[in-house]
Amino acid sequence: SKIESSHLPSTQCLNIKPIKDSGDDDHLLHRSFIDPPALVERAEGVNLFLSDGRKVIDACAGAAVALIGHGNKEVHQAIINQLQKVSYVHTQSYTTQPAEDLANLILRGSPHGLEKAFFVGSGSEAVESALKLARQYYFEKNQLERLHIVSRRQGYHGNTMTTMSISGNLARKIPFEGFSYPHTSQVSPAFAYRNMRDDETEIEYTARLLQELEDEFLRVGPYKVMAFIAEPVAGSGIGSVTPPAGYLAGVRALCDKYGILLIFDEIMCGVGRTGSFFAFEQEGDVVPDIMTIAKGLGGGYAPISGVLVHKRVIDVLRHGSKAFNHGHTYQAHPTSCAAALAVQRIVLRDGLIARCAAMGKILESILRTELQDCWSVGDIRGRGLFWTVEFVKNKETKETFDPSVHFGVRVQQAAFNKGVALYPCSGTVDGKKGDHLMLAPPFIITDEELRTVCKVLREAIEFQQQLYS
Ligand code: PLP
Repeated sequence: SKIESSHLPSTQCLNIKPIKDSGDDDHLLHRSFIDPPALVERAEGVNLFLSDGRKVIDACAGAAVALIGHGNKEVHQAIINQLQKVSYVHTQSYTTQPAEDLANLILRGSPHGLEKAFFVGSGSEAVESALKLARQYYFEKNQLERLHIVSRRQGYHGNTMTTMSISGNLARKIPFEGFSYPHTSQVSPAFAYRNMRDDETEIEYTARLLQELEDEFLRVGPYKVMAFIAEPVAGSGIGSVTPPAGYLAGVRALCDKYGILLIFDEIMCGVGRTGSFFAFEQEGDVVPDIMTIAKGLGGGYAPISGVLVHKRVIDVLRHGSKAFNHGHTYQAHPTSCAAALAVQRIVLRDGLIARCAAMGKILESILRTELQDCWSVGDIRGRGLFWTVEFVKNKETKETFDPSVHFGVRVQQAAFNKGVALYPCSGTVDGKKGDHLMLAPPFIITDEELRTVCKVLREAIEFQQQLYS
């Protein structure tokens, strides 16, 4: 759909004392020229300590990243130990123990047939790598016409050129129209709150979505389609949306029918965030051919993301060119792998994924009770410790606020001013910028802290409701 100026991202300022007035001496390019971000001096557990003396509960773990919380001394030590052994080698000639151990820890026993892991630095790099791997798979199978990538409107897969092109997030695309990967098209997201019709059952809704996907494959020409990519539980674009029953299984069946690779982007929803290591495990174990993970993998201690590859894709390369023709200087960086290994060992040892599932139920119940009387709360949705509150002007009609109101961002600011950090989702809803706030706290958060977070959120919403009316 057409990009309008109203889709421009709001500055997402947090109205706090700037680090410094902008001037010739300030050389770091921040996201916004208007509102410098908060200076964080220290972070520990679920708390951030700001330079102005304030303490903020990090109820979104950055962007669903810091899953074991901040300042973990065991992870610090693992990083120091690794730096003292090997800080860097190039993967063309070398491997390191933490990289080997990390892959083996995540894919021990090839869960669901996922056989190999490839580590890079960011989520966008992981998705780019996954797409290039998909392309090489078809190159080796001599299916050279397969270049087309089908994704979903309102999905988010990254900020590099190709990943941005296949993302539906209009706000992030504004200055970059025409600067894009051409072989892509989008279908509807599986988003029942917005798109399921009143006269439709969940089964009928799923069937309608699958029909649309099959029609799109047929329109493009199924022999030209390389991959369908989707987030099993949609993340930053539209805010922790779980799919309707049977949807992912139906998608898998359609991809199989036309020989199209299925890629799951679990960069935000994976690594335990929804209460199971892989988000797809709660959707009937629908297994992708290639998948990406990132945020929770390193828990924020070092930049790292992963591409996990099914045996059936690896086998084609294994019996073909015998190499993945792709690489980055900082691929499988030893310090990042050591950090991620330490984080994942803590997650396993302390049973943090089970804790995430249990605390998620508590968070849901507090949210539903605390926000039940807020007229602007249209939907509360999520799974595990991955929840979103969607704001609407009218609960009955689900009409959105005018984008210029920035209702969600203003609630975010008000909550931040009261000591709770939440994540604004910048996706679009029916062509308009959506109003969502995401809660994705560290898995170590306590009941009491969750209660404080939800109470502050309610007060922030009420404050904005009063200003609005
Ligand atoms: N894919 C998904 C589902 C994401 O949520 C994100 C980031 O939010 C990305 C890809 C891009 O990751 P990064 O910002 O690390 O490049």
